[in-house]
Amino acid sequence: MQPDKSPKNCPFCKIREGKLPASLLHEDELVLVIVDLSPINEGHLLIIPKIHASGMADVDPDTLAHMMRLAQRMNAALRKSSYKCEGVNLFLADGEAAGQEVFHCHLHVYPRFKGDGFGFRSVKGKHFVQAERARMDAVAQELQGLL
Ligand SMILES: [Zn+2]
Repeated sequence: MQPDKSPKNCPFCKIREGKLPASLLHEDELVLVIVDLSPINEGHLLIIPKIHASGMADVDPDTLAHMMRLAQRMNAALRKSSYKCEGVNLFLADGEAAGQEVFHCHLHVYPRFKGDGFGFRSVKGKHFVQAERARMDAVAQELQGLL
């Protein structure tokens, strides 16, 4: 079944419209910052553009830049907070294969600490294996042509 990418049933649009509750810590003309309903660790935040766009490609670049500026501020706030925070991850899942579950682009900002049990899974011998320079050059060349 195809995921529902319309704003009609979008939980983040409903939060923006006040139709669903949220713990809001920042709002401006471009974005909302709320506390994640199902946190990886306490202090997990979501930075959400106000305008519905399912994927990153559809978000205005100035809004994306603003999201990153806010992520820096949220990172600093988390590090000063009472929540356990030895490091911070930023995570933006763009597409179902990348782990996107709510199809309204959003940026996760969440505190991390040693032993929190969260992490990406990798397969030894498949991931993080040093690539050959020729392949790396081919990747750079192909993508340069697509910018
Ligand atoms: Zn939405």
